Amino acid sequence: MCLFTHVAFGAIAGAISPTPYLAPFLGLASHIGLDVIPHHDIDRMRTEILLAAAAVAAVAIGGALSLKVALGIAFALIPDIENLLWKLGTIRDDQKIFPGHRRLIPHGMVLGKSNLILQFAASAVAIALLIRRSV
Ligand SMILES: [Zn+2]
Repeated sequence: MCLFTHVAFGAIAGAISPTPYLAPFLGLASHIGLDVIPHHDIDRMRTEILLAAAAVAAVAIGGALSLKVALGIAFALIPDIENLLWKLGTIRDDQKIFPGHRRLIPHGMVLGKSNLILQFAASAVAIALLIRRSV
């Protein structure tokens, strides 16, 4: 799933966490859950990172960036560091360790670029609900 989608749903995972200690686990769980769903990934890492930064900025500007939310976002993004390293050629595909990326947990099938519209819409709704909840 795209990084911005992981940001949006990692933020939700953090927000619903009863304590800051559980937020990292819920953030990681959100990553697994999203990667199982069929989706399109943006190939250009620079675009991915810019869109993820925009999603984090939207959460922050909306006043919804608490410790729990930040932890949920961080741990929803951490697994994709190895995808970044793989795309940069730093590691091989067989050196990935996250179960969802090693295919120990099924990874959703690859969809076309039109799936990005759904990811944008779902992420926008998630962030809007998060901001509304925190107001
Ligand atoms: Zn992933």
